[in-house]
Amino acid sequence: MNVAVVTVGDELLAGRTTNTNATWLCERLAERGVAVERVTTVPDRVADIARVVNEYRAAYDAVIVTGGLGPTHDDVTMDGVAAALGRDLEEHEAALAWLAEDGYTRADLTEGTTELPAGSRALHNEEGVAPGAALEGVYVLPGVPAEMKAMFETIAPEFSGTRTYRDVVVADEPESALLDRIERLRTEFDVSVGSYPGDGVRIEIESTDETTVAEAAAWLRERVETA
Ligand code: ATP
Ligand code: MG
Repeated sequence: MNVAVVTVGDELLAGRTTNTNATWLCERLAERGVAVERVTTVPDRVADIARVVNEYRAAYDAVIVTGGLGPTHDDVTMDGVAAALGRDLEEHEAALAWLAEDGYTRADLTEGTTELPAGSRALHNEEGVAPGAALEGVYVLPGVPAEMKAMFETIAPEFSGTRTYRDVVVADEPESALLDRIERLRTEFDVSVGSYPGDGVRIEIESTDETTVAEAAAWLRERVETA
């Protein structure tokens, strides 16, 4: 399964908020064997949200959108998603009922709080107020990290893929000096290899076969300088 993640918010693009939601989602999806193919941040603007959601839902199995729920003027994510799916926004009865159980009446809620794209499955917000929505492979989650995480956990079983195994070899050599061995590693073993310089070079070896990863990592460890 492959997925695109769309984070919505002017404050993310201005660098005022660090995009921890994207990182968290990528990590959780990777753990489940799901390939995240895109992470895109867009401003709080209906047309921009609609455009990427439309493009990504055609290209990937699912799209996870976070941020910009809630009823304030700058929260336009549901409008963007509704536009992408060619739906109107409609009051969602189940979402209203959940909030009633939590002690809210319709009069307490700002207008628009429980409006979701027509035909959506409402996702209950256990940590906050604004409901999320799922429709045609598009999942809309809140931006507040605690709310987003709790809501993702309720839909996590809908995201699955092939389990992959990974091992890391840290080489104490310049990356350019390692190219020959990385090349041989890739020809001799059916693995994907990532090379990440920093404090030493982290060489990440990945495959859907656990034994292959172990053998490839052992092969490499014998052939590089380690700290
Ligand atoms: P609310 O209903 O409370 O308005 P929301 O779903 O509309 O929530 P936003 O308004 O987009 O969410 O963001 C609320 C807060 O959540 C932001 O001020 C920011 O602190 C945090 N937040 C939003 N998006 C992210 C993100 N991608 N990574 C980390 N934090 C985020
Ligand atoms: Mg908001």
